[in-house]
Amino acid sequence: MKRQTVRDVKGLMENSVISPEQSDDISQVIRKFSVAITPHVMDTITSAENAGVFEQFVPSAAELEETSAESSDPIGDHAHSPLPGIIHRYEDRVLLNVVQTCAVYCRYCFRRENVGSGNAGLTPSQLDSALDYIRADKKLWEVILSGGDPLTLSPRRLSHIIEELKGMEHIGIVRFHTRVPTVAPDKINDELIAALKQHPAVYLILHVNHPDELTPQVCEKLALLADAGIPLLSQSVLLRNINDNVDVLTRLFRKLLVNRVKPYYLHHGDLAKGTRHFRTSIEQGQALMKELRGPVSGLCQPHYVLDLPGGAGKVPIGPQYLTTTSENTHRVEDVSGCSHLYVDDCLPVDAG
Ligand SMILES: *Cc1c(COP(=O)(O)O)cnc(C)c1O
Ligand code: SF4
Repeated sequence: MKRQTVRDVKGLMENSVISPEQSDDISQVIRKFSVAITPHVMDTITSAENAGVFEQFVPSAAELEETSAESSDPIGDHAHSPLPGIIHRYEDRVLLNVVQTCAVYCRYCFRRENVGSGNAGLTPSQLDSALDYIRADKKLWEVILSGGDPLTLSPRRLSHIIEELKGMEHIGIVRFHTRVPTVAPDKINDELIAALKQHPAVYLILHVNHPDELTPQVCEKLALLADAGIPLLSQSVLLRNINDNVDVLTRLFRKLLVNRVKPYYLHHGDLAKGTRHFRTSIEQGQALMKELRGPVSGLCQPHYVLDLPGGAGKVPIGPQYLTTTSENTHRVEDVSGCSHLYVDDCLPVDAG
């Protein structure tokens, strides 16, 4: 019998990831925020190498605690959504969210109040309107299919969307933000890859937070995607007690690169409701980035970013190394913490 994704208290108890004493609290959590744990993830969290995976997906009573800084729209998506499925914050690129469901529900999800089991995605006519919007705006250059997880769409539906985008001359690249390769690797098959490959410049950005998520099955699928010529990048969320130390981050970024995935973003935890137990401070994040820079390959360095509440977008918040001391002199801190004076010797900007 094909194993099912676990979505309820009963399934969580049957797999012994919660105890009967927790069941009342967890029922309350599930009424607010969907749960989904795929068979692949369940195997990982019930195996030996699970330290950083369990808490990402198994609900806990801590999610019932909300703080005043937290919000149901933590990165201000609503203000930038001119029509269903479109979030348009930047001039040259746009998010196209076709579905509102994911293969798993991450407990720290920034869109947790918009994605969830049973949420309807775009209707065919809403999808047509969203595509018309993209077709009409010639300043757009990039379309990003994002969460809900676009790779949960059937290859046939994906094909249709990619074909439409391919027909728009101003659209140079199509990007997918997805968690499917790490949480439901069985979905990555030749049919799906063929659908993606219909566009000459499709990029996949994988969401992955801990090296233990990169199981042998996952790595096999990453190889399929890389061999198909699809550029792979990653985005991770900095998560307290999961990946907030240099050793785990180093192992994560190296393992990604070995699998031909370039670390792109490390997100500071968003102010989504009931997620304080996952957040670190920005100071801690900067200290981690500082420890990585130098001893660990430059290819392993993602941008550490904050997505501002209110909708102003992503901002790099990594450590600073340079302070200006006079007009053309800067004090620069090197990667071992020593300070150097640097004279910025160049012609003035307006010199003919
Ligand atoms: C994150 C995001 C993007 C992509 O930003 P990049 O910095 O290009 O990766 C685009 N649009 C919206 C609305 C976003 O939230
Ligand atoms: S895959 Fe992305 S959108 Fe879906 S639950 Fe996880 S973080 Fe949220």
